[in-house]
Formats: sequence, C-alpha cells, structure tokens
Amino acid sequence: MRILGLMTTACTLLAVATVSLGAVTVTSLPDSSMVPGGIAVIPTGTDAVAGSFRDQRILLADFEGVQYAIIGIPLNVTLGSQQFHLTLADGAKESLQFAVEYKEYTEQHLTITNTRQVNPNADDMVRINRESGEMNRAFSSWSDSLTPVFSMQVPVDGVRSSSFGLKRFFNGQARNPHSGMDIAADEGAPIVAPAPGVILTTGNFFFNGNTIILDHGHGLITLYCHMNTIDVAPGTVVAAGDLIGKVGQTGRVTGPHLHWSVNLNNTRVDPALFLTD
Ligand SMILES: [Zn+2]
Repeated sequence: MRILGLMTTACTLLAVATVSLGAVTVTSLPDSSMVPGGIAVIPTGTDAVAGSFRDQRILLADFEGVQYAIIGIPLNVTLGSQQFHLTLADGAKESLQFAVEYKEYTEQHLTITNTRQVNPNADDMVRINRESGEMNRAFSSWSDSLTPVFSMQVPVDGVRSSSFGLKRFFNGQARNPHSGMDIAADEGAPIVAPAPGVILTTGNFFFNGNTIILDHGHGLITLYCHMNTIDVAPGTVVAAGDLIGKVGQTGRVTGPHLHWSVNLNNTRVDPALFLTD
C-alpha cells in the first residue's frame, strides 16, 4: 500500500513537469475570431504538451489556470468544421473541432507603375522563389524561451490604408490577398516593436523591400516591410515600444507605408485582432 502511494506521487510529479514543457503561461489572450484569416482561441479541456493544425505546430497557452489552443486560421481555409490535434502528457492523442464561419473580404485594385513588380522577369522569379523560402523558414521557426504577448500596440502612428484580407488586383491582375495591415505614414516615421521579442531576420526583399521579422515566441512572429531604414540586427532583444526602423517605400508600393503582418502556426492572420486600442 505504502509503495503504491509513493509511486502515485512520483507519477503525478512527472506529469506536472511534462505539462510545463508544452504550454506557456500568458497574461492575456487574443480575440477569438473563427473566420478565414482569424484566430481560434479554444480551451483544450486538458493539459496537452503539444498540438498541431494542418501539420503546423500550434501555440498552447495557460491563461488563469486554463489551457487554450491559439490557432491561426488561413485565408484559404475551407469553411465549416476544422480539426486540430493534441498530444497529452502520457502520449495519448486527442482531436478537437471548431467551425470556421464566412467573412466577406472586399476587392482592392492598385496600379503599380513598375510593371516588373507585377510581372517579374525570369531572374526576378529566381530571387522571389529564394526569398519566399527564406520567409517561410522564418515564419515556421519556433522559440520556446520567449513568452508571447498578445496585446500589442500599433507599430507606427498613421492612417490604416489597407486592411488585412483584401482581394488584390495589381494593374487589373488578380494576386494573393493582402496578408497584413498597411499603415500609411511619412517617410522616416518611427516604427516600434508592438510587443517584446527578438529580431529573427532582416533583409531586402523583391516585393517587401527592407524587412524585419520579429519573433515573439511559440510561433507568434511579426513582419515589417517597405522600410526606409532598419535600425536593429538579428538577435537584437526588443521591448514593446522600442524603435526598430523607419517608414519607407522600398519594394512593391504605391507610397510610403508600413506593411505589418502577424503570424501564428506559419499562418498570416489579421493584425487588428491583437491591437489593444
Ligand atoms: Zn501591405
């Protein structure tokens, strides 16, 4: 009897230690919005140590003693029932469902005078494909050591000129929908980190111009494009409000603005869901 009791205690301790590996304790949650380009915030009802959605690792967070799965929903998702998967501390698997509802996104027609930015040549395509691989690697990276903060401040003061999800046409030709939020501001206006993190990548990209990718931990990663100057380097640790660069018009633009994207589980979601004001 006594031996059995000791074993139970040992197993309980082991289970607690294992659980802490999977979920991160957070002080706020993002708004749940189960639409294409939105975020599903779902209590798991258990203490999972890992989760996945469409083969991408998902963020598991403990908030006020309850574990939540925080899942980025792609713009191209099929409406209706979607399934995600959890791994429990004892190795058991569990699947949960959520329902994605329709959201109307309007069209936006833009005129680009540099036609190579709409119909790139063969050399451009080599560069574009290489850069798209780099972006994808950055967006799918994962750091356990950073604690994501979901309540963000606006990275630049300005006018929200194009919202997330617009169905885009450049010079009359259909292109990918808008994967971020555009904020128009004067060239040189300061851009600040909207939440704490570590600079993951910086560079100059064909479409995105001067670019920063900022890692907030557990798959929450933000992107800043078309900058005039980049004032940080990979590895720089930033607090919310720290200067990271200045507004510019590098890459495919119609004028100076910041293109800001927010990424969860390698999926671009609506940045407005994270803004506190
Ligand atoms: Zn944009």
